[in-house]
Order: sequence, then C-alpha cells, then structure tokens
Amino acid sequence: MDRRRFLRTGATAAAASAAVVATPSIVKAQAKTFNWKMTNAYGPGAPFYVQGPGSPTDFIKMVDAMSGGRLKIQHFAAGELIPALEGFDAVSKGTVEMNCANSYFWSGKTFAAQYFTAVPFGMNALGMNAWLYHGGGQKLWEEVYAPFDIQPFPMGNTGVQMTGWFRKPIEKIEDFKGLKMRIPGLAGKVLASFGVDVKLLPAGEIFPALERGVIDAAEFVGPFQDRRLGLHKAAKFYYTTGWHETSTVTELAINKKAWASLPPDLQEIVRVAAAACNTISQSWCESANAEALEDLVKNHGVKTAPLPADILAKLKEVTLQTLNEAAAKDPLAKKVHDSFIGFKSNVDKWAGISEGVYYSQIRGQI
Ligand code: CA
Repeated sequence: MDRRRFLRTGATAAAASAAVVATPSIVKAQAKTFNWKMTNAYGPGAPFYVQGPGSPTDFIKMVDAMSGGRLKIQHFAAGELIPALEGFDAVSKGTVEMNCANSYFWSGKTFAAQYFTAVPFGMNALGMNAWLYHGGGQKLWEEVYAPFDIQPFPMGNTGVQMTGWFRKPIEKIEDFKGLKMRIPGLAGKVLASFGVDVKLLPAGEIFPALERGVIDAAEFVGPFQDRRLGLHKAAKFYYTTGWHETSTVTELAINKKAWASLPPDLQEIVRVAAAACNTISQSWCESANAEALEDLVKNHGVKTAPLPADILAKLKEVTLQTLNEAAAKDPLAKKVHDSFIGFKSNVDKWAGISEGVYYSQIRGQI
C-alpha cells in the first residue's frame, strides 16, 4: 500500500469510527438530501440576474458543491414555473422554497421592502452592505418579512445604475415635462411630479418602444445590461447620475419552514454562498460596465453626462418628501427609514473623506 493510499484509507477509517460515535439523529440529518425549487423574477439566460459569476444559478452550483450534493436546487427563470412577479407569494406559501428578485417589487405589500433594494439618493453598494451586514439592516429585513414567513438574504448587487437614455438633452427641470419615460418604482413617482409620463415596460419592450418613439427616454440598469437591450441604438444621450438606484440589491427569499428544516451546516452554506454571490456579482458588474461604457462611447457615438446639479437638488427634495410621507403612514416603514437614513448620514461622511476624496483627487491620474 503506497503512502497516499494508506493515508486515504486511514482517513476513511477515522471518519467511519467518528460516524459510529455520533448520535444516530445527527448522522440521519446530515445524510438527508434536500431537493428545492428556486424561482426568479428575471427571464431565462439573463446575465447577472440568472447566469454568470455570482448569479442565482452560480449560487446553486456553490451550494451543491459545498454541501456535497445534499442541497439540490432546481432553478426556474420567470415564466418557466410561475410568472415573474409571483415569487414572493410562492415562497410565502411554501409552493417553492426560494425566489430571487428585488425586494422593492414587494413595496406594495409592505412599503419598508423598498429600502432593502434601493431608494433614490440612497447608499452605494459599500454603504448598503455595511448597513445590511453591520448596521442592523439584515435584522430589520427579517422583521419586515416575518409576517410573510420569509427569510431574506442579500445575494447580489448591480452597483450604481444610470439615469438612463434620452433622445434629447436634459438641461433644466422643465425638460422633463411631458416626457414619456420608462422608469419604475419610487423614482418614477418622483419624476411624475415634474410632469414625466411614466411608462412601466418590461425589459424586452424597452428598446422597440424607445426606437419607435413610443417613449422618449428609458432607464434600465447600466452600460452592460443597457447595451444588451440595444438602448444605445435608439437614443444617444446617456445621463449617468445614479440618483434613483445608487446600488440595487438582489434578494434571496427563503420559505421560513423550509429554512428551519435545514441542519445548521446547510443553513451556513446557504448564508455564506449568498454573501459570496453578493460580492462576486457586484465585482462582475464593475468589470462588465467598465468594458461596455468604453465600447458605447468609443464605438457607438454615445454621449455621457451627469444630470445638472440644480435638477438633482429638486429631485432630492421631492424624494425625501415622498419617503417621509410613506414612512409617516406605516410604523415599520418609519423604523426602517430612520435606521437607513441614520446609518447613511454617518457612512456618507466617512465615504466623503475616504472614497470621495480619493476619486476626486486621484481618479484617472495613474
Ligand atoms: Ca433600474
């Protein structure tokens, strides 16, 4: 018997004797295989949202490998098992064990859900992660989802998104008046107060609508995802200030009973794989957006510009008013709002003298 084989046999024997000593219930729990279903609010093949580094299907592969095949998850993109926006109810009822989406899709059920994805003039990915992991955000998220029997985790982040694509330049707040724009959520409400005719279109319908002039402007995500839809072929003015989605968190929603049925080691594997995907997906977005922006500007005649400061000041004023009004109607939303805004004001000061100073003084010089 060679040395390696001897060691391997020795290790197997040691493991076998440990198993004999362990209580039968532990052995049984560890040997059990779980077969779960995961639905997704996004369509088949979508990079970041469905496939690629740190995506939900990557998460499934990580969990499979780390659990030695004990937690198998079958993935269903939007429409493959249930429609795009039915995942929250499906997880809540236990029809499926897991769903991937963005919590702000559920802000109609509970307004506080908005804060765990993005609110306009919110925090960047670093700040969001700091709040979620270390500032009480995760705990509040669990409290908000408790009545729905859902255990949430962050499992991805797009980083800062872009204001969007416009067929004409935007120079003053009045230029928004009468503009037909695709922009969902709270930011849409804010723009509507400046006369924007807000259109809610799913991803696949944005390009044809913008190209045919059914809409005059559209926001989607950022350079990589926007180029994938072909938005640069329909409009050339690309406003960059990510005021509306300063970073956008992907949520992993897990049915509470299913979560409780997992042994502690599998729970830890799920928690750690979600955290890994959160980092890996965001770093992938940084890399993909950098490449796509360069390509859009160099090869497709796209003109980028930040939104003028006086426009931003007006958008910010209405955003804060909207958030305060919504929070005043709902004690749980108020609790989350106060935690979010309190954390943000502290982290903004630090970000300003750390990242902010670095980027304003050093960027592009090396
Ligand atoms: Ca968006």
